[in-house]
Amino acid sequence: MTKKPDQIASSETSIKRGLDFIYRVASTTDGFDSYGSLLICCFALVGATSRDANLRQLTRSPAQKLARRWGHAHPLVPPDASPDLVLDFVLVRYALSRLGLRDVALKAQMRTVVKRFSAQDLLGFNPVNEPPANDLPYACDCGLKNQRGRTFCRQCRRRLEIQSRYRVWMRALASTYVSGRCGILFGARYLDILKWLPTMRPYPAGADENVEFLRDAIYAITHIVYTLNDYSTYRLSPRWLPCEFAFLKANVASACERKDPEVLGELLDSLKAFGLRASHPLIIRGTKYLLEEQNEDGSWGDPDEENIRTRCHTTWTAIDGLRSYAWRGERLNHPEVKSMLKRWAR
Ligand SMILES: [Zn+2]
Repeated sequence: MTKKPDQIASSETSIKRGLDFIYRVASTTDGFDSYGSLLICCFALVGATSRDANLRQLTRSPAQKLARRWGHAHPLVPPDASPDLVLDFVLVRYALSRLGLRDVALKAQMRTVVKRFSAQDLLGFNPVNEPPANDLPYACDCGLKNQRGRTFCRQCRRRLEIQSRYRVWMRALASTYVSGRCGILFGARYLDILKWLPTMRPYPAGADENVEFLRDAIYAITHIVYTLNDYSTYRLSPRWLPCEFAFLKANVASACERKDPEVLGELLDSLKAFGLRASHPLIIRGTKYLLEEQNEDGSWGDPDEENIRTRCHTTWTAIDGLRSYAWRGERLNHPEVKSMLKRWAR
């Protein structure tokens, strides 16, 4: 539903309502169990990178409270932990590190458990010698994670959907980056994932593209931004990533037209990282869209969506698209990346 101009809130109010929604979900058992680790990251990153001091203050205590609850539920890394659970531990650890908190004992446990897995187990491909996989199925509705190349489930015979290589790449970028920041090798080094960037170009363009494929490509590029700027800590020069900067700019209008606040939120904070100001027409357009399309309950996206992770993630990205950042200068989180990018920008 579109609101009349006098009903449109300021960004500040809108962000707070969004955070309240996420906190209400995080306070439920279902929400916390299915998405707790990422919700802790949400609060910790808003607390660590926002320009607005009130907002930083407002989010640090919920982040710590949720992290304590997570710690009570998961005091140790179980020796038989799945890759997904190990990643949850990593995310919580990263979130705490952004608030200046560390846990040395936990890190040692995580290092031991993660060694049981190969890069293939953790990332779905081996980035040392092959590009992101384009034959990796999503987990089946029955719960089974099938091997690469399968088109029907080994257990229940359902047809499987295949993940795009952009999605596989995005997940590998995020998990190896965050783990690396915590001193843990999650199957491969981040730079071994990043190095496939030239093979992922050109990015999809044109109105006849499959929308899911296009969205996956956008998420991959926003995660190039997040992993190079430590999740909205540093600014990036558009000269370092000219194709990626152009690709993100080219997709703002269509995200608004498609009514896609989840993608739009990630486009806006990434473009802000590249230096677009609040007065830039694309930022104005995207901000206006987000302020107009917030739901009554403070969330963004389809209020009838049953997947609570999607509801929270959409709300989180919209909040990040609206907020202003306390940039700590223009720099790359991995300084050695600069020469790689220079080579690829030619
Ligand atoms: Zn199945």
